[in-house]
Amino acid sequence: MPAAIVNLAYLLASVLFIFALKGMSHPRTAVRGNLLGAAGMLLAVVVTVLDRRIVSFEIIVAGLVAGSAIGAVLALKIHMTAMPQMVALLNGFGGAASALVAGAALVEALHMGAAMDMQFKVSTALSGLIGGVTFLGSLVAFGKLQELITGAAVVFPGRHVLNAVVAAANVALCAAVVIRPEELLFYWALLAASCVLGVLATIGIGGADMPVVISLLNSYSGLAACATGFVLQNNMLIIAGSLVGASGIILTQIMCKAMNRSLANVLFGGFGAQAVAKGDDVYKGKVKAASAEEIAMVLANARRVAIVPGYGMAVSQAQHAVRALQQLLEQRGAEVFFAIHPVAGRMPGHMNVLLAEADVPYEALKEMDEANPLFPQTDVSIVIGANDVVNPLARTDPKSPIAGMPILDVDRSRTVVVIKRSLSPGFAGIPNPLFAADNTLMFFSDGQKAVNDIIQAVKEI
Ligand code: NDP
Repeated sequence: MPAAIVNLAYLLASVLFIFALKGMSHPRTAVRGNLLGAAGMLLAVVVTVLDRRIVSFEIIVAGLVAGSAIGAVLALKIHMTAMPQMVALLNGFGGAASALVAGAALVEALHMGAAMDMQFKVSTALSGLIGGVTFLGSLVAFGKLQELITGAAVVFPGRHVLNAVVAAANVALCAAVVIRPEELLFYWALLAASCVLGVLATIGIGGADMPVVISLLNSYSGLAACATGFVLQNNMLIIAGSLVGASGIILTQIMCKAMNRSLANVLFGGFGAQAVAKGDDVYKGKVKAASAEEIAMVLANARRVAIVPGYGMAVSQAQHAVRALQQLLEQRGAEVFFAIHPVAGRMPGHMNVLLAEADVPYEALKEMDEANPLFPQTDVSIVIGANDVVNPLARTDPKSPIAGMPILDVDRSRTVVVIKRSLSPGFAGIPNPLFAADNTLMFFSDGQKAVNDIIQAVKEI
């Protein structure tokens, strides 16, 4: 295929990727953005397959069919709440693929006796390094989120020194690959060392920080692909890899900011390693439990109601029920808005996706900065399955692990209704004084069932 046509197709695919990213930055255009990205990827894959006759079409088609089948089954079976694990696996495989392709290019160059320029050697070493870290780092992240291994940060004395020694060994092996590329052993040793670095870098990070790390590993997988693009001199891989690398790091920054943490603190802070007091021990006997009927009475007189979803709404799949409650309260003359915290749930945009699935109008969704000034004039805030993102300790206790994290100020509403199954803490593992506040009513129940019971009780008034 003529190089001009290939490059033109790559340019078109790149433009589609950029429009895809733009589209995915807003819920209203996210589906279109996704489709544009998929179309761009299809174009890039088809052109690459037609252009580079590396292996037979039969093998390529067999790989495509097997990979697509596994991908389709996983995409259909995985629950929304397990999406971070799925993304972790995808990142890991992306990193491994980049490192192996770069290794194969090195083997091929040695076999053919081809001259290797500096760009080839440096990018091969970088691909091995970043790909290995991404691969094993992502597998550890997957294991933690899937609870195959402990989700807490694993910290031990001297871990920073060990990390530094392994990192230095990786740099030395990268230099060895660049100086003596003909010694293949250096490349495979680099892969092994980078995998060890991936484990060490991820094992010390606690459960609540895992989604941030996954976003960072996503960025790494893009950088590994970009490096492999330089190895293969493939413009598409360079552009697509850089886009993934850049968007992953931007998302990582956004998440760190929403949790008021620096990236260094997430990576090296060992957050979540220490045992914490359980909410049960701290607030038992001090909270006011309410029934659906009592909550319906409070809602009957409310003029403005906020619904504040969190991870528990996702677990109980209560998005359709909260939509029904919103409609019912609006029919009865109340103004209802949804307050969305940027890190509510377990991945960015988690709440938006679920509420969009239930056809909640975008105009009803208020982001944190927009929602917070409304709480002092809100009659009832219904917190459904949210915990850390409404924890006033973030504002009041400078020693709290979440100190300084911006939260939704639901405690400033006239009445707060908290729906959850128990007094257990949220992902950060810390008690929440909101549960024992004078203006809080606790409704202990599964999220979906609780909202349906409230709807029933409101209808009976
Ligand atoms: P939390 O994890 O703080 O709390 C969720 C609450 O949901 C729990 O206290 C739990 O209580 C309750 N719950 C669980 N299942 C159900 C159910 N079936 N019905 C009703 N309630 C249920 O969630 P938040 O959304 O408030 O906070 C998100 C946390 O995740 C933050 O710590 C954030 O920093 C972290 N995080 C999020 C990221 C993101 O991108 N969204 C990224 C990185 C971190 P109980 O068991 O008693 O029911």
